[in-house]
Amino acid sequence: MPPGDPPPAPGTAVTVQIDWARRHTLMRTHTALHALSGIVFRDYGAKVTGGNMEPGVARMDFELDGISQEFGKEVEQKLNVALQNDHPVHVSFVARAEALADPDLIRTKVNLIPEAVDPIRVIDIEGLDKQADGGTHVRSTAEVGTVRVVKTESKGKANKRMRIELVDP
Ligand SMILES: [Zn+2]
Repeated sequence: MPPGDPPPAPGTAVTVQIDWARRHTLMRTHTALHALSGIVFRDYGAKVTGGNMEPGVARMDFELDGISQEFGKEVEQKLNVALQNDHPVHVSFVARAEALADPDLIRTKVNLIPEAVDPIRVIDIEGLDKQADGGTHVRSTAEVGTVRVVKTESKGKANKRMRIELVDP
């Protein structure tokens, strides 16, 4: 379907084709962001305030008071160690009531998911990060490869941004 065409009517049978190279790079990029958010929370106690990604490049904003290039390098090292430690990525479906009582999921604002969503899909990167999530991820963190922190910048009070990219997209 050419871009800009109206969508097919509901119920229409369609065949789709996945651009696997693009998809896999996105899966790796997305998984890297999970690891990044897990590490920044684990070691600096800072929550995520925003983020965005494209295949191979991404940014994430944190509730940090300050940020520096050195901090970026430190996080980059920790991130690559964690990725190489090959944490498995588990996908599960958890009853909404159970999800709302899970401290990890509370931290990542599971309560903002519309009430009709039950069960809730949960991504658990063993020992690193756990959140409610509808996205696509690789099976374990080593598949991400190596990540570089390319930029750190302040986007205002308690909103500090890190830009990352896959070394081998
Ligand atoms: Zn995800």
